[in-house]
Parts: sequence; C-alpha cells; structure tokens
Amino acid sequence: MLCKVCRSKGKRKKAVIYLRHHRLALCKEHFIEWFERQVERTVKKFKMFTRKEKVLVAVSGGKDSLSLWFALNKLGYETYGLHISLGIEGWDYSKESLRVCREFSGRLGRPLIVVNLKEEFGYTVEEIAKGSGRRDVCSVCGTFKRYLMNKVAKEEGFKVVATGHNLDDESALLLSNTIRWELGYLGRQSPVLPEEGGFVKKVKPFCFLTEKETVSYAIVNEIEYMEKGCPNAKEATSAHFKRALAYLEHKMPGTKLRFYKEFLKRARPVFEKEVKEGLELNECEVCGMPTTSPVCSVCRMLQRLKEC
Ligand code: AMP
Ligand code: ZN
Ligand code: ZN
Repeated sequence: MLCKVCRSKGKRKKAVIYLRHHRLALCKEHFIEWFERQVERTVKKFKMFTRKEKVLVAVSGGKDSLSLWFALNKLGYETYGLHISLGIEGWDYSKESLRVCREFSGRLGRPLIVVNLKEEFGYTVEEIAKGSGRRDVCSVCGTFKRYLMNKVAKEEGFKVVATGHNLDDESALLLSNTIRWELGYLGRQSPVLPEEGGFVKKVKPFCFLTEKETVSYAIVNEIEYMEKGCPNAKEATSAHFKRALAYLEHKMPGTKLRFYKEFLKRARPVFEKEVKEGLELNECEVCGMPTTSPVCSVCRMLQRLKEC
C-alpha cells in the first residue's frame, strides 16, 4: 500500500500504517505529521493549554504517556514529567517503570519529577490496599495517583496536568458509564476537567487517537516503553468493554470515534446539568486537599492503616 499524501505529490512511498476509519494509508513521515496535527488540534479545540504555560505530563512509562510527552515536547510546549512510583514489586514493575521514565526524560532533555509512595506515606500501594481491607489494588492505585497528580501540580505551581488516556480508554469508559447509567460520571467525562475547588485542570490530548495510533507513534519514534502491563491489572473490567468496542470497530470502522465524539457534542451537555447541582467540595480536615466528605479518601485509608 502506498502513502496517500506522497501519492498525491506524485511520489511512491510505502505506507507504514493504514488508518481504516479515516481510509488513510501513510508513510512514516506523513503519519508523524498527521498524528502531531491531531494532537495540536485537540489541544487548541479544548483550550487545554498554551505555549506560555508549563504542562505537567503524568508518565507511567507506558506507550501512551511517553508518546504524549514526546509529541507535546516536539510541538514546542513546556513540558515536565511526573512519575508516581507505587512500589509494585511483581515483575519488577515499579522499578522498571521508573527506569524507563528516567531514561526517556534524559532523551528529551526535560525534567522528571518522581514521587515515591513509600517515601511519601510510608506504605506501597499494595500495602495500603491490603491494610485498608480493599482487595481491589487498582482502585486504590487510581485514588492515590489522582491525589498525587493534583498535589504535586499545586505544590510545584502547575495549572494543568496532562494524561495519556487514548480513544480506546475513553470510549470504553463511556460504554461502561452508559451501561451502568452513571449520570454523574457521564456529566464529568471530558477531554478537559477544568480547575475547580482545589483541583487543577486535567486534560487528555490523546482522547481522539486510538491505541493502535499511539503505539505506532511510539514505535516510529523509537520510544522505549514498558510493554508489560501492571501485574495487578489482570482482571480489569474495562478490558471487556474494550473488547466489545474492538468487535464493533471491526464490523463498523469509526464506531469508537463516532461514539465518543457524538457523546461530547450531543449527550454530555445534558448530563452536565446533573453534576453541577450535586457536587460540593470542601477541604480535607487532615491534608487540606479537596474532597466531598470531611476527610478525603486517601487520608481515610491511611488512618485505617495506622489503626491496625
Ligand atoms: P492508566 O490508568 O494506568 O491507564 O493510566 C492512565 C494515564 O494516567 C496514563 O496515560 C498516564 O498519563 C497516567 N499514569 C498512570 N500511571 C502513572 C504513574 N505511575 N505515574 C504517573 N502517571 C501515571
Ligand atoms: Zn508519505
Ligand atoms: Zn486528606
């Protein structure tokens, strides 16, 4: 297959990727150009940040977040990495993730902020999950990651945090929220969560790019990323929704993008009204971070651990 852009210029360059839902075959050079244009367009469309602001890019060491850091840096944004080291021992997961992020930070020549859960709180995420009586490590992990992203951003003077969530993640989350009719979550699901009541702005510049596209971008740019997933994430229910959408995408190319884009345009404004009335934020009595209850969920879990 030949690159469509090259062909239109009378050249015959081989395509490295075929984007079925866009009916677009592209060579390496034109795929990179296309991908970065999509990112730039999303950043501008949702007014995520400008070149005058510093952006904290949350990097796990996986393909999405490292590709995001790479693309934003290349597009001329002032980026800083943030890696949260969770202390997951299986498969040397946390140790390897940190190494990969450090090396990548060196390659980009951009600073990496590292927060270690054990140093910060005295426990790893697995110890916290066990001690607080929650068997689901993933949800504990998610709570601490969100908490620390916000805390570090505020302490270090960032107004915006960017994460590597892609279209596969967002459309699977949308399907899951829809099937459960989680009205509050539906009203809040967005490429941009504005700064509000002590939460810094959170953005997802890859929300219209598929996992196939982000992994291809990582490969053509020779990004070394963690191929292994987290050893605790085996049972994630989001995987079922991703598989269901992959089937629909195979049968009807463009389903994921249409589902998510039309939701943002037509359905989200309806659900948004539900959210505004329900959510009241105050400061956690212990740590001062924003929460809907007197003590935030992070402090509650840590308190329970100290009681054991
Ligand atoms: P996940 O929830 O693991 O799918 O990750 C979603 C996004 O959260 C990633 O693309 C990263 O931007 C961010 N993220 C996940 N894990 C970490 C971590 N350990 N440190 C910093 N950011 C992370
Ligand atoms: Zn080309
Ligand atoms: Zn707290």
